[in-house]
Amino acid sequence: MSQEALLAARLETVRARIERAARAAGRDPASIRLVAVSKTKPAELIRQAYALGQRDFGENYVQELLRKNKELADLPDLVWHAIGHVQTNKARDVVRVAKMIHTVDSVRLAQELGRRAAAAGVTVDALVQVNVGGEPQKSGCAPADLGEVLAAVEAQPSLRLRGLMTIPPHTDDPAGARPFFLALQRLREEHGGPSRLPELSMGMTHDLEVAIECGATVVRVGSAIFGER
Ligand SMILES: *Cc1c(COP(=O)(O)O)cnc(C)c1O
Repeated sequence: MSQEALLAARLETVRARIERAARAAGRDPASIRLVAVSKTKPAELIRQAYALGQRDFGENYVQELLRKNKELADLPDLVWHAIGHVQTNKARDVVRVAKMIHTVDSVRLAQELGRRAAAAGVTVDALVQVNVGGEPQKSGCAPADLGEVLAAVEAQPSLRLRGLMTIPPHTDDPAGARPFFLALQRLREEHGGPSRLPELSMGMTHDLEVAIECGATVVRVGSAIFGER
């Protein structure tokens, strides 16, 4: 099979998984956005996925995001999502390229992103990442600090608060992620519900069905689309 045919088949499989999971949960499949996670993969593959109708792409590393953004500048409605930890010294670069930042996790980062977005004359969608599993090696704010980080995002006129994001601890059984996805949903309820926080970014290749069952509106899928890294 050619690389293009393989990509088309994989993308189709992921779309079918999303559709099936949404229907099983009694949800409209169109209410779930697929972000194709292209980290470490060449810009050419992104271009092929774009030709297959995919528009939202996620990158973890700011340098890589900037490079690919340049290489793909001719694709008019490609939407970049920054899904990796953002260091404050990268805030200026990331706001110029990303439409949505999934990983705001401190008051300081919210302030820096807001300042840089205002200076660049752009408005950026922001999700607050929560470390629901309390894993020391993972980024994300502690659930107890969520209120102040949300307020810090809302205090920035150039950031638009859209919701929450999480990466659960790894479990071999995808169902193991359920308590963490439900915890994110519960945090949303405690902090204003869907009117304040419409988006829940959760679910990856391994556990997207469980995430959709638990209310995900954005799933971030890499290896099922682009192959193993
Ligand atoms: C790499 C990555 C993904 C995609 O992971 P897959 O298991 O390849 O689907 C999703 N979200 C984040 C934050 C990532 O770093």
